[in-house]
Amino acid sequence: MARSYVREARKKVAPKKERIRPVIELLAAEHPDATIALRFSNPLELLIAVMLSAQTTDVNVNRVTERLFEKYRRPEDYLAVAPEELERDIFATGFYRQKTKSLRGAMQRILEVHGGEVPTAFDDLLRLPGVARKTANVVSAERGAAQGVVVDTHVRRLSQRLAFTRQEDPVKIERDLMRLVPREDWARFPHLLIWHGRRICDARRPRCEECPLAAELCPSSRV
Ligand code: SF4
Repeated sequence: MARSYVREARKKVAPKKERIRPVIELLAAEHPDATIALRFSNPLELLIAVMLSAQTTDVNVNRVTERLFEKYRRPEDYLAVAPEELERDIFATGFYRQKTKSLRGAMQRILEVHGGEVPTAFDDLLRLPGVARKTANVVSAERGAAQGVVVDTHVRRLSQRLAFTRQEDPVKIERDLMRLVPREDWARFPHLLIWHGRRICDARRPRCEECPLAAELCPSSRV
């Protein structure tokens, strides 16, 4: 099980409902460039990039998709080659056999059920083979229709450190965040936590002395 940060919180701060807006504002000022790091230029590329990003870094995915998106432009292109060829083309993202199977399944359904277009409805996204809630959340948020709050390792850690949740399970963490975060911020909130987690609130050595939340908003602050 992943390390928990729930018990790190110790400093007395205001209730989370009072802290959420100032936290979002301060993080937005600190990370004005906090957006998705995956590169894509249309919904199909977005979906594929997010599917490939499981268990690897965004930088790695971008390296692979630079060529992939030149070669495969439509859903049918992913089905026109032998699975082994697609496996080779996405090899560097890891778990390439499973990812190939998922990509092919998703493309098949997009062609058969959705006329070759990536569906917009959240439930339709979830019905695509290999598309779990996190992927559907990222895709929906980037298309301007967030249906939930994306929870990755940074979002989990920071939500626990900020005492926005006491849960460990991503689905329960998401539920807590959906109750707390204003709906209009569902899409950008995870990006803010992800960038803050990468730049300042490191898993092992959070740099609280540089953190704009340290003074009054974070119960886990070490300063
Ligand atoms: S860096 Fe420190 S103060 Fe800032 S969010 Fe992380 S634990 Fe809290």
